[in-house]
Amino acid sequence: MCRSINRVIGLRVPEDVLKAKMDRYKKNGEATPRTELIKASDYTIVLTYQLEFRGIANYYQLAYNMRTLAKLKWVMEASLTKTLASKHKISVSKVYEHYGAMLLVGDKEYKGLQVIQPKPDERKKPLVATWGAIPLKWNSEATLDDQPPRVPINHRTELVQRLLADFCELCGSDKDVEVHHVKAMRKLHEYPGRTKPEWVKRMIALRRKTLVLCKRCHVAVEHGLPITWQLLSLDEIKERRKKLNDTILESRMH
Ligand SMILES: [Zn+2]
Repeated sequence: MCRSINRVIGLRVPEDVLKAKMDRYKKNGEATPRTELIKASDYTIVLTYQLEFRGIANYYQLAYNMRTLAKLKWVMEASLTKTLASKHKISVSKVYEHYGAMLLVGDKEYKGLQVIQPKPDERKKPLVATWGAIPLKWNSEATLDDQPPRVPINHRTELVQRLLADFCELCGSDKDVEVHHVKAMRKLHEYPGRTKPEWVKRMIALRRKTLVLCKRCHVAVEHGLPITWQLLSLDEIKERRKKLNDTILESRMH
């Protein structure tokens, strides 16, 4: 009993452990690609790194100095992006361009990487692997066997919807579709001004933090300009989204 209490109070990430873990992803003092993974799928590569890091972060969530794991994450991310870069014979910055994604945990957004692996049967939900979005917060309430933090499914769905998005949720156009993101739903309800603009009502009605918009609508929304062109009805949007939802993925990753 006493022993376990002492363990809880005293737990820290030991420096030598941290160094040993970082060294696994380094060669000659630099982050190195993992050649043994180069033949694996992108999905497997990203998943491998994420599971390794999550395992460590999860174990040390009781450690008061767990923030030092950010150093490990940094080295692992460099190794991961170098692995993907050498697999595809592209630069690391291209890797970020291609796989970079904003990942949502609760209300917080994290920059990370994401890979979507479609299944051979296209009607089945593809798999999603992500890198990042693991908060390095000392959790004194945690128990040692706590489950890894999970990204709520609906946030994942939003994220993936962005990727699958192919029509503007205001006007229906498929030209230069982008994602408009609102940090918190609360903000929408507090929208300053006399009347809520159409896009705000729409986001509230769709219960979303993101709205997929074409370039034209996006610019109007960003700058608070009036939208004078024809909009899709909410029913039409819901109909289209329902179709989209059938192809929407949920991550298999825990
Ligand atoms: Zn539009």
